[in-house]
Amino acid sequence: MDYNKLADLLFPEIDKDIDYYLNMYPARNLAPDAWVTRVAPSPTGYLHIGTVYQALIDKTFADQSNGVFYFRLEDTDSKREVSGAADIMYPCLKNFNVEPEEGYFSSTLEVGNYGPYAQSKRTEIYKTFAKHLVRKGLAYPCFCEFEDGEEDFREEQKRLGIQTGYYGIYARCRNLTYEEIEENIKAGKPFKIRIKADGDGHERIVFKDELRGKLSYPKNFMDYIILKSDGTALYHLAHVVDDTLMHTTCVIRDESWLPSVPLHKQLFEYFNLPMPKYLHTAQILTIDKTTGNARKVSKRYDPWADSRSFLEQGYPKESIIEYLLTIINSNFETWRLQNPTLPYTDFKLTVDKMNKSGAQFDHDKLKFISKNVISRFTNERVYSDVLEYTKNYDKEFYEILLNNKDYSLKMFNIERNNNKPRKDISVWGDVRGLYYYFFDEFFNLKKEDYCFDENFSMEDIKFILNEYVKTYSEKDDKEAWFNKIKHLGEDLGFASDMKEYKQNKENYKGSYADVSGFIRMALTGEKNTPDLYDICQLLTKEKIKERIEKINKLF
Ligand code: GLU
Repeated sequence: MDYNKLADLLFPEIDKDIDYYLNMYPARNLAPDAWVTRVAPSPTGYLHIGTVYQALIDKTFADQSNGVFYFRLEDTDSKREVSGAADIMYPCLKNFNVEPEEGYFSSTLEVGNYGPYAQSKRTEIYKTFAKHLVRKGLAYPCFCEFEDGEEDFREEQKRLGIQTGYYGIYARCRNLTYEEIEENIKAGKPFKIRIKADGDGHERIVFKDELRGKLSYPKNFMDYIILKSDGTALYHLAHVVDDTLMHTTCVIRDESWLPSVPLHKQLFEYFNLPMPKYLHTAQILTIDKTTGNARKVSKRYDPWADSRSFLEQGYPKESIIEYLLTIINSNFETWRLQNPTLPYTDFKLTVDKMNKSGAQFDHDKLKFISKNVISRFTNERVYSDVLEYTKNYDKEFYEILLNNKDYSLKMFNIERNNNKPRKDISVWGDVRGLYYYFFDEFFNLKKEDYCFDENFSMEDIKFILNEYVKTYSEKDDKEAWFNKIKHLGEDLGFASDMKEYKQNKENYKGSYADVSGFIRMALTGEKNTPDLYDICQLLTKEKIKERIEKINKLF
């Protein structure tokens, strides 16, 4: 067969060869060890937490090696495309500090010299590459009406217990003559392009994954579709073409792509192009509610995995990133313990510490990490983030915070900036519930809301509270204040010396710890709060008096 003639018959409109494009996108001017990585989502919905995870790995390896991290939009499947989804992807990545520096930013903005970065704009390039393979006799037109995976002989193959798919005697169009093809074309029949696979089902290939080491697979022997009848490329062809022309050095993608590597290797060989490195990452898993088994987190079934929902819940982006880093590298948590104050960007991500198997998304762990992350924030950062959050989700609290900036900053400074900062906030939505008692607007407790320790009489409690008001001075430093507390209940039989109390409990009603518990309950309605001295300083004597008078009235 004259393959040149066939190529022109199939693609009369394509007048370039692949060299044209190979020359058009010269190698990047980077050091040999620089990583060029990419995130390549499909605009089939929202941006998924799994894409943030991929982008974090991509960006970190690129940044650490002074390389490039770019964005390619894999929008060849127009049937699955959700309108508007493409334009939210870059901003969503930016929200998590994992934005690429090059590529598709929006439908009206692309940055970089290796574009177009949306695959829907690259049809001519894919056709040129497909035509090249036809010209070399390594690809052919297929007029069958089914797609891969939907072959009409699939049931028969299953019955016979043989591998299903388009290959061997089932590859009906593989051996069509030029005349038969021409006749089909003249009749206006649509055609797809299939790779002419050279594997025999026994031969194996070996390939090295950066994370998983050497892996062996059967050589591809399926004549997979690489170009659809509407001229759009399938992932396999688009991946080979784009990662070549955009000069990706390491394809970092989900491990579900591992079985496709033999096909990709074959395509690179057919084009006589070098393969990039590959790193197939572990998946983020979740427990399926119906089966009870772990499965990959999915766009379709796990709406909570929409990256935006984490921000809507009030997680700071750093919490999400640090949680993802704990999944990615097994030594991140140890590093964080040893370096509590460094920004996470100082952590060096390494392939040898990368987890190979999937990690179940653990919401409790995320909360725990988030508490730690927030405890390291300055009071200004907490204030501005809470303000931003409440602006969208709690207008009432927002107004109060806005109108009481200094007061709020002082409030957020309690037990911050010390060696053991308080770890009470995991999401910004927690703040109102944790700190409501600082604001009269929210501090409207009823009698039953107070839980004074029932081991003590209300009479004693009230006596102590009123003594507290009498003796309280805003000018006292913490030590002086504490000394007063210690002695407040002495006359009633509350120990002022803890050691003595612990040895002779029977001689006392309680200790000064109980005394401060009464004060805490009266002023905040809570059993546990940040430092009581600081709370009192912030509330002022006037408010302390008011709140204790309220107790006198209620009980
Ligand atoms: N569009 C593919 C996906 O979303 C990209 C895979 C890749 O990174 O090569 O899974």
